[in-house]
Amino acid sequence: MTTPVPPTAYRRPLVEWRGRRPVPYITAWSGEVDVSINDLRYGARGLIYANELPSDRDQRGGLWERWVDDYGTGEPAWRNVHSERQRTCMEQMWCQVCARPASRTHKGYLFLAGGPATLGDMEGTPNGQPPLCLECAPTARKLCPHLRESVAFRARKAPVWGVLGSLIALERSRLNPEAVRLRRSVPEFVKDGSRERPFVLGSQLLREMRRVTVVDLDAELAAAGLTA
Ligand SMILES: [Zn+2]
Repeated sequence: MTTPVPPTAYRRPLVEWRGRRPVPYITAWSGEVDVSINDLRYGARGLIYANELPSDRDQRGGLWERWVDDYGTGEPAWRNVHSERQRTCMEQMWCQVCARPASRTHKGYLFLAGGPATLGDMEGTPNGQPPLCLECAPTARKLCPHLRESVAFRARKAPVWGVLGSLIALERSRLNPEAVRLRRSVPEFVKDGSRERPFVLGSQLLREMRRVTVVDLDAELAAAGLTA
């Protein structure tokens, strides 16, 4: 087992797997499991939890997935994103690797997009990849399979757009119409304030990328005296 280490100015990211490989803050661990469905209830006005807590909803009133809290237990599930930590990074504009404030210049916050991506692809597009600090950008580029051929960009404005989440519907059994269960869709982009949102379980927070500039990450690293 690897013990999570709180962020400090001298140690990043929060956890190093087997003492070497950094584990991004938003990466899920095998000990962390989505248990939302256990207490989820379907109401006429939307979804609720049987024993709902303030932390189950975001500032806009949207309901979110619930995970068992075993951060750092087991092995990193490299391809899975932990819902609550992704949301926290996006709400606070924290770096997705070290959970400290993301890099921000006059061109805006630093993001990476899986390539090939053009300015037109990114401008006005909802994005679920939290920003990065300059020091961690090479780590994210190296670790995340879909970011290896990434494009670095900065966004001056990044208002909250909505969520990547699962639509929950009631499903009746054909054999026994009295038996009802909840059916969960594959995650999709859902805008905040839409008719669907009350019936969606949020998984990742999306921000809309606005006033985007493509930047040369290696040049920025060199200018800051950092190596890729
Ligand atoms: Zn960082």
